[in-house]
Amino acid sequence: MTASRTFKVITYGCQMNAHDSERISGLLEDAGYVPVGADADPDVVVFNTCAVRENADNRLYGNLGHLRPTKNAKPDMQIAVGGCLAQKDRGEIVRKAPWVDVVFGTHNIGSLPVLLERARHNASAEVEILESLEVFPSTLPTRRESTYAGWVSISVGCNNTCTFCIVPALRGKEKDRRPGDILAEVRALAAEGVLEVTLLGQNVNSYGVEFGDRLAFGKLLRACGDVEGLERVRFTSPHPKDFTDDVIAAMAETPNVCHSLHMPLQSGSDTVLRAMRRSYRSSRYLEIIDKVRAAMPDAAITTDIIVGFPGETDDDFERTLDVVRAARYSSAFTFQYSKRPGTPAATMDDQVPKAVVQERYDRLIATLEEISWDENKKLVGSSLEVLVAVGEGRKDGATGRLSGRARDGRLVHFAADPAAGIRPGDIVHTTVTYAAPHHLNADGPILTHRRTRAGDAWAAGRVTRTPGVTLGMPTIGAPPPQPAATTCG
Ligand code: SF4
Repeated sequence: MTASRTFKVITYGCQMNAHDSERISGLLEDAGYVPVGADADPDVVVFNTCAVRENADNRLYGNLGHLRPTKNAKPDMQIAVGGCLAQKDRGEIVRKAPWVDVVFGTHNIGSLPVLLERARHNASAEVEILESLEVFPSTLPTRRESTYAGWVSISVGCNNTCTFCIVPALRGKEKDRRPGDILAEVRALAAEGVLEVTLLGQNVNSYGVEFGDRLAFGKLLRACGDVEGLERVRFTSPHPKDFTDDVIAAMAETPNVCHSLHMPLQSGSDTVLRAMRRSYRSSRYLEIIDKVRAAMPDAAITTDIIVGFPGETDDDFERTLDVVRAARYSSAFTFQYSKRPGTPAATMDDQVPKAVVQERYDRLIATLEEISWDENKKLVGSSLEVLVAVGEGRKDGATGRLSGRARDGRLVHFAADPAAGIRPGDIVHTTVTYAAPHHLNADGPILTHRRTRAGDAWAAGRVTRTPGVTLGMPTIGAPPPQPAATTCG
């Protein structure tokens, strides 16, 4: 392996993909590659693709087309394509873009360095897609993008069959990582100075079903409460059908678990939920929210909503607005339904005309913004703890502000004297002076500023890395291991 070959990973899609890209970077670094400098052309470009977002394939093939002249001029350069679109399109990618060197799937990220070497040696494309997961991806080394916040996978895949979603076809059935292994990774991150961890799974509320413990997720949250140095715990995403009261209790009673909940609604119409094959109803959804607010009155609740699912009537859409008004979201990811090839919804009758979808979508956005603005205004005058972040406020340079997230997940832009030396990863307390629909401003004095190890690491340009194998890491399919140290599971 030539030690000096450089790489760049380009990521599309969700947090799962972003975290997979951290693993791809960790793997390549372990294999002797180095991240490319800002203005240089990399020797290896890896596209980690998404099949969920609209026009994902056009975007990928467009980007591959742009790279073709560079590749012609520099034949030694390699292009690899992984992720959900690679899992879906397989050999099609090298037929459409024969200058691609490697195609790998969602189940075999770990093969990438070997595939790159084989493709170089054989001077031909390597396509390797596995049908199911053999090794849990967290066994791979990870180069973390942040010194202060880290993702930790608790499960991969999904046992649900939402009719608009391609994920189960591409990521397979849910596989749960054992609690001891998750906690070992969380402790390792906290030991490196990471302050905030987000537990990741397609459906965190079904975590544990695979190893026979339906209460495992609540126990896991409580166990994270005992991790020294860990100040914030978040998770995404829960599924309303599997949400149990013990999780609400664990959130409310574990001091480092943040009072923020991202719970996808998708639609407020029970008819549409049925057609989506989402087996909760709007009343059940709102019941969960009522319980969360009763246990944590300061909780910020966010969601995902799809507008214009096939068959959605005006009345169905009004039911969605009803839930939005009752739930009082602090923000939402909103999507106009569009067909995803390979999903049952793509071939359903009654596709809603584009103009109708747009009109409903505009009304939804207006309603959401009115509510989130009202909710944000309630915070003016209050003091918030903010974990300072990188790159959250694009206008920060011009306004002299820095940005970060409050404990409830709200985006806060705050005034900061450069002489104060506040760094990403530090913690400040400040007072909210102005509310907008999507953020808060705090233009008063900083009340407290705590320097952290994460801030020191950011200032020193250090990268957080987690090694490939942590305590008792299981191989999928192996008998459940005895975790070396765990307080749950
Ligand atoms: S719960 Fe539904 S939307 Fe979420 S990953 Fe599973 S199938 Fe897709």
